[in-house]
Amino acid sequence: MIYLDYNATTPLSENVKQVITDNLDLFYNPSSMYKEGKLVNEKIQASRSAVAKLINAEEDQIVFTGCATESNNSVIQSCLAYSSGKRKHVIISAVEHPAIFETVEYYKSHTETEVTVVPVDELGRINIDEIERSVCPDTVLVSIMFVNNETGNIYPIKAVVDAVRKKNPNAFVHTDATQAVGKVDVDVKALGVDYLTLSGHKIHAPKGVGALFVKDSSSYIPYMHGGHQERNYRAGTENTLSILALGQAANDIINDNPVDRIRKLRDDFEEKVLRHIKGSRVLGDVKNRVGNTSCILIEGLNGIKICTMADEIDDICLSTGSACNSCEMVPSRVMRAMGISQIPIRISIGKYTKEDDLKKCLQALIKIQNKMRRSAL
Ligand code: PLP
Repeated sequence: MIYLDYNATTPLSENVKQVITDNLDLFYNPSSMYKEGKLVNEKIQASRSAVAKLINAEEDQIVFTGCATESNNSVIQSCLAYSSGKRKHVIISAVEHPAIFETVEYYKSHTETEVTVVPVDELGRINIDEIERSVCPDTVLVSIMFVNNETGNIYPIKAVVDAVRKKNPNAFVHTDATQAVGKVDVDVKALGVDYLTLSGHKIHAPKGVGALFVKDSSSYIPYMHGGHQERNYRAGTENTLSILALGQAANDIINDNPVDRIRKLRDDFEEKVLRHIKGSRVLGDVKNRVGNTSCILIEGLNGIKICTMADEIDDICLSTGSACNSCEMVPSRVMRAMGISQIPIRISIGKYTKEDDLKKCLQALIKIQNKMRRSAL
């Protein structure tokens, strides 16, 4: 099996597996007063410190959550709850992940929340002037993703923050950095954001753990109420093993992150695809995207069929974009926002991808497209 779907999820790294097995018997409640509980608590704080270091935050600005979806939901809910204004206005981009898009839609249909969805151009780029124009005195939150999961496009978050602050210094700015962490430098101080989301399973930690950066706790309204865990930011007994794993995953990125090797593999692969597969083109802002993602459209060929054949015949795991809409037969919302009417394929690689994996993928794609074109005749 060849796995080329790292944007959907990543395998546990060897170091992460080691941390999990080493701590399997450390079942004590981190809030307990005896020394075993205190030890677990200390380990959680060490993980917090690693995650904080990874994004240049302070330790007490990191809240562990259940996933990126929870982090995103909690930010939206907090900003809406914190605002005392009668009108509440939220701005997002047309290419946000469903964890933002659908959540904002929910508040729009169930509360008085007003939403502006800023469009993107054919390369999936946002227009900063358009964001600035959309900000008004009632804007409570602007949420723009750092890196898009389907195209790999990198968005200019610092410029978004500057534009928002100019028009409304009270509006919060959040970025969903789920696909950015480990692929580009993420520095919350340089970005100037109020909130930032990340997820464990995209960086070789397990599923079911995420984190939220909260710049200023005085304006954060918790999403989960109950016990006093996570300094009252998030109630519920901590997912200890996964939090320790996330800390290890953060340390791994800090210590050794082969982004240049990954980018070279991706670029060589893309160059060969474009050369050997007629009608293929790369979608997205090609000059401004992360080095692991390749969103490829093959003219006239349905991405779902390509992925299905790659899986069934060649045992290669590819995707059409977001894992969340991989069963739909229409182009994703992100693709439609870019004016793309056909379903592409997404190849997303990572630190365990070998040159040979991509060679086999290229051969499979050539074979599949020949077969599909022949059967269309
Ligand atoms: N945000 C982005 C940009 C994503 O790519 C994903 C997962 O694909 C999520 C949020 C949701 O992450 P999680 O599975 O941790 O909730």
